[in-house]
Amino acid sequence: MERENFTRSVLAWYDQGHRDLPWRRTKDPYQIWISEIMLQQTRAETVIGYYERFLARYPDVRSLAQSSQEELLKYWEGLGYYSRARSLHKAAQMICSEYGGELPGDLAQLRALPGIGDYTAGAIASIAFGIPAAAVDGNVERVICRYDALTDEVGTPAMRRAVTQRVQELVPRDRPGAFANAMMEMGARMCTPRNPACLICPVRESCRGLAQGIAASLPNKKKKKAQRVERRAVLLVFCRGRVLLVRREERLLGGLYVFPDLLDGREPSALCAHLDAMGVAAAYDGVLGQAKHVFTHIIWEMEIHALEADGMTEIPGGVWADAQQLAALPLPTAVRRARELALERLEGRL
Ligand code: SF4
Repeated sequence: MERENFTRSVLAWYDQGHRDLPWRRTKDPYQIWISEIMLQQTRAETVIGYYERFLARYPDVRSLAQSSQEELLKYWEGLGYYSRARSLHKAAQMICSEYGGELPGDLAQLRALPGIGDYTAGAIASIAFGIPAAAVDGNVERVICRYDALTDEVGTPAMRRAVTQRVQELVPRDRPGAFANAMMEMGARMCTPRNPACLICPVRESCRGLAQGIAASLPNKKKKKAQRVERRAVLLVFCRGRVLLVRREERLLGGLYVFPDLLDGREPSALCAHLDAMGVAAAYDGVLGQAKHVFTHIIWEMEIHALEADGMTEIPGGVWADAQQLAALPLPTAVRRARELALERLEGRL
């Protein structure tokens, strides 16, 4: 009975009015998939523009599978967490080769695709295919921990299982997709991380966390490790109206183009020696600016330097880009300031 009350109250509240988000106007599995991947770690308001541009360019699985990774990363530029785009690409190719270009309507098969974890599989299964599956993201976990006054630390396999099982009990068989959306909406608008709106919450009468006065302190999260600060010299190496970019192979920002850089070095001689080791002879020109970028675990504090190369030596993964190419290649937000400075210099404004 309590289970039915909770589900009914949450759905009734959702039905009274919710955010009109573009992916809520469709049940198309492909579109739901794209939205769910973009929404991982990113706010809905930020995702809207990316989602619409992405679907205009990639209207179906096949068009996505046939894209080059470089073009796909360009459409992802600025959204961050670029491994999501790389996995999306691989998954689209798998869907074409194994499922004829249509997303499978099966929880286990969805879960087996690159980039699709338990939450995303549950969300696609329930919203697009009407399967009564649990979709537990951080928002939903917070609602459940507070509603049930679960004080154990979240993030452990045991807690993940307990919360998923609880949500599974709550999912109504007749409206699993609406319930998944309603729970996400609860977490985003009502049971927010700070200052939950308990006074107007549709389930306040039966919320144990509220009754015990501990709602705002839940979920019980492990303290985050302090972010590591990396001091990087970013090298804008110019030569006859072009600037040097290199394709990153590392996991962080892999597949994107960045300017050559050097950790913990800022002396002109060290910068020139670094380039020399890459096979590029260059003379130091001066500091152009500073920038900072905060990743989840690392902070990049960047000093941006200009250098003039003797010639455009070919290096593996390197591109000597003119202003047009510099604007067209996929670069991460982390080097946005450096790109602006490079463009200003290439266009004679700096
Ligand atoms: S009453 Fe408060 S803590 Fe409980 S579910 Fe509602 S908003 Fe969250």
